[in-house]
Amino acid sequence: MKNETPRPIRLKDYKPPSFLVDTVALDVALDPAHTRVKSRLKMRPNPAAAETGKLQLDGENLELEEVRINGTVVPRSSYEVIPSALILPGMPQERFSLDIVTHVNPDANKALQGLYRSRGIFCTQCEAQGFRRITYFLDRPDVLAKYTTRIEADPELAPVLLSNGNPLERGTAERGKRHYAVWKDPHPKPCYLFALVGGNLSPVASTFRTRSGREVDLRIYVEPGKEDRCAWAMDALKRSMRWDEERFGLEYDLDVFNIVAVSDFNMGAMENKGLNIFNDRLILASPATATDAIYEAIESVVAHEYFHNWTGNRITCRDWFQLCLKEGLTVFRDQEFSADERSRTVQRIADVRQLRTHQFPEDAGPLAHPVRPESYIEINNFYTATVYEKGAELCRMIETIVGREGFRAGMDLYFERHDGEAATVEQFVKCFEDANGCDLKQFRTWYSQAGTPELACALSWDSETKSAALTVEQVLPPTPGEEAKHPLHLPLKVGLISGNGQDIELNLKGAGPLADGVLNVTKPRQTFTFLDVPSRPVPSLLRGLSAPARLKVDLSDGDLEFLLANDSDLFNRWQAANDYAMRTLLRIVEARRSGKRSVRGTGFANALAASVANDGLEAAYRAELLRLPTELDIARELARDVDPEGIFRARRQLLKLVGETLGDVLEDIYQADGDDDRFSPDATSAGRRALRNAALTLLTARGRPADKERLLRHYQSATNMTDASHALFLLAAAGGTDAGDALGDFYARWKDDHLVIDTWFVAQAIAPSATTLQRVRALTKHPLFALTAPNKVRALIGSFASMNPRQFNRPDGGGYNFAVEQVLAIDKFNPQVAARLLGSFRSWRGLEPGRRKEAKRALSRLVKAEGLSRDAIEIATKILE
Ligand SMILES: [Zn+2]
Repeated sequence: MKNETPRPIRLKDYKPPSFLVDTVALDVALDPAHTRVKSRLKMRPNPAAAETGKLQLDGENLELEEVRINGTVVPRSSYEVIPSALILPGMPQERFSLDIVTHVNPDANKALQGLYRSRGIFCTQCEAQGFRRITYFLDRPDVLAKYTTRIEADPELAPVLLSNGNPLERGTAERGKRHYAVWKDPHPKPCYLFALVGGNLSPVASTFRTRSGREVDLRIYVEPGKEDRCAWAMDALKRSMRWDEERFGLEYDLDVFNIVAVSDFNMGAMENKGLNIFNDRLILASPATATDAIYEAIESVVAHEYFHNWTGNRITCRDWFQLCLKEGLTVFRDQEFSADERSRTVQRIADVRQLRTHQFPEDAGPLAHPVRPESYIEINNFYTATVYEKGAELCRMIETIVGREGFRAGMDLYFERHDGEAATVEQFVKCFEDANGCDLKQFRTWYSQAGTPELACALSWDSETKSAALTVEQVLPPTPGEEAKHPLHLPLKVGLISGNGQDIELNLKGAGPLADGVLNVTKPRQTFTFLDVPSRPVPSLLRGLSAPARLKVDLSDGDLEFLLANDSDLFNRWQAANDYAMRTLLRIVEARRSGKRSVRGTGFANALAASVANDGLEAAYRAELLRLPTELDIARELARDVDPEGIFRARRQLLKLVGETLGDVLEDIYQADGDDDRFSPDATSAGRRALRNAALTLLTARGRPADKERLLRHYQSATNMTDASHALFLLAAAGGTDAGDALGDFYARWKDDHLVIDTWFVAQAIAPSATTLQRVRALTKHPLFALTAPNKVRALIGSFASMNPRQFNRPDGGGYNFAVEQVLAIDKFNPQVAARLLGSFRSWRGLEPGRRKEAKRALSRLVKAEGLSRDAIEIATKILE
């Protein structure tokens, strides 16, 4: 078999569906290897369609038993079955009912799309195109129907039976050998939101009273024995429900809300109507087993999936090109929820880090695509940082342009106009224009144009007229398939800071006072003049990253020190620290490359001291100041001729220097917060732990005997997983007998916990030592590792390829070859997970020539392999092109 290049699907070819489905009645008889699915569809021709004679239903890996139209069996000679569809010609031109009986094999399903079993639990994943692996259907988001689902199973195998909507009926069949449950969802939905679960699960129950006084039953279903790890997820769910009522006026609309946690899941979680299915990593938490980062992720993902009930479920997407309509908007909503629940500044820093780490390189490389792509080969490849994170930034920019109240008015209009519909990006943006009487025509370019814009800014001050002129130039680098770019509409939030450290009140020439500090940049080059500027100011630009752009501005080390000490905008104060760290690191990289050792970085370390010691700033914020740019950040900044080894050494040098320069301050921080024994996952307590652990990292980097002892003590005396895993990572990174002992101890303690043991895999995968590859290779044969379990693949292989740049990019190409071998093995049964791993190669062209050659060799070997999936072909060929 040869790899033929699959045909892309294009936005411009969109056509309405030929038929509509009013109701779906499913009857699913669960069995591990032979599940029988009876489907009864009430259908009619779509008046908006051009041609309605032929009905083509999507289907994959299905065994077809029978087809009936209006109760009459359709003879086999009257329809056609191809690997991807069931084709029925000559359909009735009025309402009709279509019955289809199919069989599927959940146990054989290792792609984890459609119906499968995970640790004995039957569950489904239908987004984007999994429903076609359960039954033949019009598997597209613009076909909305009301579902009734009857599930039947052996009560011992599956005592709990769940589906979307409200429970209607339950009972026994075959004299108690089988039992069943019927669920009815009153809200029309596309099939990607269908879900079904059957298994031995324990519920943790609670209730929520909506603002109109309705009582909703809340349940989280987990493996028996894990009930005591659900409290945080339940709490997060209730806070999300309340927040959506208060901030957006949106109330929950069913009598029950169920969450099920399963172990094997391709993604984080899925927002199926009334029945969210989660990767159990994002539900289960206790102080002993989960880090603060996991607690935070649980809160944010529970909120995200809940918020989809309105943005995604009540209003869905017309087609998959509009994916950002639900994802970008819902990420924006979950970011806002976290900002309201936690610290807004720290949340924004975390979100911006995420954007720059994942989305900026995507936008600058071979996988660059607009937030709304024009074409795709495999839709599963478009669940990207661009659609999610940049998509959220577009919503944030709309809010910055029209203001918070204007944004709410636009959202209200969106629900008023489109509730119950499948909408488009144009319809979404139109609501903000109509609600605010503004023009977002130019802004819409953000949805169709790829690439991160660069804003080149220069500020001049005129002592005679006491005015300051800010010149802003948009630079739009070309991306694959898009040479020429259109200028964008960017909200640029600015401040001018006078010599005494105070913000100058902005008086924009021609417009007057600028209370919110937001400039609307619309032209390729534009100058904004500020009046009444008494002395030469220092500019604070792109505050809060008001647009997803790269800022280029000529600031001296002294200017950065000044901003770090004075900027009233705490985000930009952090940004100044980050910029200062980055420029210091780049100087060290360059100095090492040219054989000079004179550059040290003491200026940066000293500038940091005052802010880090300032108790008036939140602990979580100070922890962010202490986190140096990662090796990946530095590589992204260098962009070409990247030498991961040089970057690793430069960063280690600066860590050591900061540890030494700030030693006393860091020791004070470490001592001060050490006696807090009672664990609480709240943001303030988590911030204290983050600060203390950041101090520990820098102190450890000094490498003195006392520092090693402190680290070992930190591991041994840890009373929560945040401290234990932080120390484990540092110990494993250092190597030697302490590392071996700690890893052995951790393994003995957690080998029976399938979630916590992933931390043990990660710690070994990201150790920068030369023996790591050999170790990781051996661990793929470990009894607790399985290629078929996505969490294990992500922990071991994913962490190695994406979080260990030094060893993944070994000069001998061993890291690349290992990754390619694993991708080939996984691609045979789970293309979605395999294609994701390939993302680690996306910046290979920026590497120095030796590594570039090795990476290319490994990738070329991959694309020549036989029988590669559509998912892997699409990513690999784009990366190589
Ligand atoms: Zn989502």
